[in-house]
Amino acid sequence: MLNFTLFSVVRQKSTIFALENKTMHMTPDSALQGKTAAYFTLGCKLNFAETASIERQLADVGVRKVKKGEVADICIVNTCSVTEVADHKCRQAIHKLVRQHPGATVVVTGCYAQLKPQEVAAIEGVTLVLSQSEKGKIVECLTKCSSAPAPSTIIPQPSAPFVPSCSCGDRTRYFLKVQDGCNYFCTYCTIPFARGRSRNGSIASLVAQARQAAAEGGKEIVITGVNIGDFGRTTGESFLDLLRALDTVEGIERYRISSIEPNLLTDEVLQFCAESRAFMPHFHIPLQSGSDEVLRLMHRRYDTALFYNKVSRARELMPDAFIGVDVIVGTRGETAALFDEAERFIESLPISLLHVFSYSERPGTAALRIPHVVRPEEKHERSQRLLAISDRKLHAFYERFMGTTRPVLLEHSRIKGLFNGFTDNYIKVEYRGAGVDNQILSLKLSGWNEEHTALKTLPPAPPYKGGE
Ligand code: SF4
Repeated sequence: MLNFTLFSVVRQKSTIFALENKTMHMTPDSALQGKTAAYFTLGCKLNFAETASIERQLADVGVRKVKKGEVADICIVNTCSVTEVADHKCRQAIHKLVRQHPGATVVVTGCYAQLKPQEVAAIEGVTLVLSQSEKGKIVECLTKCSSAPAPSTIIPQPSAPFVPSCSCGDRTRYFLKVQDGCNYFCTYCTIPFARGRSRNGSIASLVAQARQAAAEGGKEIVITGVNIGDFGRTTGESFLDLLRALDTVEGIERYRISSIEPNLLTDEVLQFCAESRAFMPHFHIPLQSGSDEVLRLMHRRYDTALFYNKVSRARELMPDAFIGVDVIVGTRGETAALFDEAERFIESLPISLLHVFSYSERPGTAALRIPHVVRPEEKHERSQRLLAISDRKLHAFYERFMGTTRPVLLEHSRIKGLFNGFTDNYIKVEYRGAGVDNQILSLKLSGWNEEHTALKTLPPAPPYKGGE
């Protein structure tokens, strides 16, 4: 069993030092001023939000993000550990950054660093391994690291408080972290070990961050967390009250809920989203398996009947809603017969897209005690079957809206004159024009683009006025 102790690993040349749990007041003339940093993030939206927050903390003390091809003084790697493949990708990314930025201070944080600190510290070129809780104290950690180099050591930290984060990074959308950690302990998942117990920011502080995003010109906020429907463990507030409060923030015209457990997607939340000013008809709901027996083995807190009920209710209240669903194939205990049953259930769901993941064995998880193991080739074949269902459903969803006009938030693409964007109900579109970055326009959706990955849109596009 892995424990929840948080830590710092510091690997340098001379004396040992401990990272004290106190705040240092940094000024722009700190030891970091004038340095440059490169950032690399793997994993979920929450990680991307947290990297952007680290970037902001460093920018505040004068650390500039490197330009392409420039060698950085500091490299920040925010890792993921959702599968063995994710761990491998993290190691590859660290090796690459060490090669590309010789002599840089290489800081590794995130779920992989939290779960396997010694493994990460042993990678050639890694200077500092930070626990999740220290993502909010990056300046302090880096300053101490530069002033008091130390050999490898592990320093326990008390249980982490909620570290706020609301950032847009390079993108148009803002990601507002409202909750962190999870108390569910699904048998296949390491997240409670990597991120600790469920905790959250207060509604007042989150509304203040949303207001700040609006003041910076943000129009869309994605509400992120590990198990966001579990919001309120720290403050005793409810997720529904959070949504109500955010909906009143002037200037934010769109909210999306990044992912919510089906058992926590209450009828009240669905009803509120359907009637709200700014919550988009877009849901992302993890199903994980369409077999009740596999759900039981996973220790999920619902069955297929409840899931079907939630999706149907969402569809009833918001007929145009985009509904994305996560599924894991090849978990221990998923026999061929149980997968067939799951596939039939998934096919029957009125959803728009599947996110298909292959089960990966994770050390320390309860799933390892389930005897039936699915062979890699079977996992692959099951994945392909579900991806085919997903393709059909996504295609049908997009085609249903061809010829209709919908509000689109646009952002520039790498191609000059071409803008990408998403409709309110999460259809990806392309628009040819100029000067429309971060604007919401009413666009008519026409046919597929050449790659068949988005819908083209037809000008002219009169300005979209929120609420119309
Ligand atoms: S709900 Fe289950 S799968 Fe999701 S983070 Fe919590 S333990 Fe992991």
